[in-house]
Amino acid sequence: MNGVEVYIGLGSNLADPLRQLARAVVELASLPDTSLIAQSAFYSSRPVGPQDQPDFINGAVRLNTSLAPLALLDHLQRIENTHGRLRNQHWGPRTLDLDLLLYGDRPVQNERLMVPHPELANRDFVLQPLLELNPELVLPDGRTLAVLRHQCPNNGLKRLEPATNASPP
Ligand code: AMP
Repeated sequence: MNGVEVYIGLGSNLADPLRQLARAVVELASLPDTSLIAQSAFYSSRPVGPQDQPDFINGAVRLNTSLAPLALLDHLQRIENTHGRLRNQHWGPRTLDLDLLLYGDRPVQNERLMVPHPELANRDFVLQPLLELNPELVLPDGRTLAVLRHQCPNNGLKRLEPATNASPP
């Protein structure tokens, strides 16, 4: 397929997070003009921001897509909404969070979308699944993922065994 390689970060800490993520992977793989190249393991991570909420489950997928960046974002937000996502607290609990982490080697900056995702370099739960998907990955500004992961503090990230994330959507 002639398209761009993109990376999407997934997170959930409500309403059976493993199931939310497993379902979301299937939905991402079914997007128009898009195919799934690979899926990372799932990880559990401590919440960013308010601590009085459950731990998160995180993961990432690598897709090939012909969708333009904003069209892809529209799909991500539609999928979040179908998972009952309510936007009521910044950094609060959520049934599903989908972030467009990287869109090929192309930076995007407009009022709806910032790519690479601005928090990418600060989050072990984003960097570790990305490393798994592509250890050679280089950001548009030339920084390598391996160096970013090395510099990023660990925040209690735990890799879940594959059997744990194999529950059907
Ligand atoms: P969040 O609450 O973290 O899901 O943030 C959602 C908001 O971030 C939406 O209004 C998006 O338009 C905006 N946004 C900016 N850059 C991105 C990105 N790379 N991926 C997903 N949402 C983004």
